[in-house]
Amino acid sequence: MTSLKQALKTHFGFNNFRSKLQEDVIKAVLRGDRDVFVCMPTGAGKSLCYQLPAMLSEGITLVISPLIALIQDQVDHMKELNIPACSINSKLGVGERRLILADLGSSSPKLKLLYITPEMVASPSFQPCLTDLCSRSLLSYLAVDEAHCVSQWGHDFRPDYLKLGELRARLPGVPCLALTATAPKNVQEDIVKSLRLNSPLSFVTPVFRSNLHYDVIFRDLLPNPYVHLHAFIKKALAMENNSKGQGCGIVYCRTREGCETVAYQLTKLGVSAKPYHAGLKAGDRTEAQNDWMQGKVLVIVATISFGMGVDKANVRFVAHWNLAKSLASYYQESGRAGRDGLPSSCRTYYSPKDKEQINFLIRQEVARRQEKRGSAKESDKSAITDFEAMVLFCEQESCRHASISKFFGDKTPNCAGACDFCQQRAQRSLRLPAGPLRRGK
Ligand code: ADP
Ligand code: MG
Ligand code: ZN
Repeated sequence: MTSLKQALKTHFGFNNFRSKLQEDVIKAVLRGDRDVFVCMPTGAGKSLCYQLPAMLSEGITLVISPLIALIQDQVDHMKELNIPACSINSKLGVGERRLILADLGSSSPKLKLLYITPEMVASPSFQPCLTDLCSRSLLSYLAVDEAHCVSQWGHDFRPDYLKLGELRARLPGVPCLALTATAPKNVQEDIVKSLRLNSPLSFVTPVFRSNLHYDVIFRDLLPNPYVHLHAFIKKALAMENNSKGQGCGIVYCRTREGCETVAYQLTKLGVSAKPYHAGLKAGDRTEAQNDWMQGKVLVIVATISFGMGVDKANVRFVAHWNLAKSLASYYQESGRAGRDGLPSSCRTYYSPKDKEQINFLIRQEVARRQEKRGSAKESDKSAITDFEAMVLFCEQESCRHASISKFFGDKTPNCAGACDFCQQRAQRSLRLPAGPLRRGK
């Protein structure tokens, strides 16, 4: 066993790297001579990309993360593994804070991972401590998690992330690692620019996932849309011939009423389904999620509030009863299918009426935001163009996988029939073996 794998086992208890990509990132970070940019999907194991190098280096790794709750999860997890990690944040008691600062000021600090929010980075009380660590060469790496927060194009822009560029300037010689799960090309460029990454090594999971089959159905043309959805679900879960079926699925709806109606209709048609939305009591919501996680309920019919942090392997389908609000969010939501690599279906039920409504809502929201702040912003434009990309994905007669890859700036993938357009094209050419040009020869 290599020493790197040995360390992986010793510190984290894992026998192998999650992927070749994870291993490659960690090796690049350990070389320490270049900044590194990582874009891998949720659940791919990005945290390990700084946690393992942190354990293998002399000094302290500074981790920037946007939310105290996310930080707390990670710190707790590190403590379970006996890895010296902590966080300095606004909720910390004076005593604890003093202990941490004392350790950081000592000649050989015990701490390996120090998590902070971007607000804290900017706080004057913390600056001297950082500068001091840096001047004593005790900062091994700067890791910026959820790095898309730096971009106004991104879905959760955080102004404090913009201060991280200045932070870098104050920490000369400390290599930076930026990590994110979703990054269309423009967001990636923003990250590199704002964090002042110096010709970074990029590690990006290709957007294309060959096990996902994408299609779009015009909902208004269906005599009974619920029966149609039901048939799709039975097929996706392999429930034909009264077999018990495998896996589970998600139906996304825009409104609470939509969730209730679809769940009711599906249950009436014989598939166990539960609604999940913000209008339910917290207890009912948790119960719905748990029942679905445990396979007691096959289908969860949810608003987009469902799915953050849900990492279930055997999701066989994701259906959108209403249009997603952008192609980036659609990719993320539909991408919850097939995490185990097995064939899975992603379907959008498209309706032009739906399009008009969502279009209206997005413009209304943008106008409201502009009024509040008194000026227009890049992110306003992107909310509209990203929605237009979603509409084009549905309306355009072309490969769905190609549309997605293009949107994220990836090269055109080999769909090989993994979308309705390519499948139908293949069938058309089968049905017409002799092309018109050859006829009569
Ligand atoms: P991300 O930040 O990319 O969404 P996380 O870093 O939160 O992903 O990791 C997701 C899960 O994968 C965690 O439970 C983590 O412990 C686990 N994990 C990470 N690396 C490995 C590995 N090499 N082997 C097994 N599990 C791993
Ligand atoms: Mg993460
Ligand atoms: Zn295709």
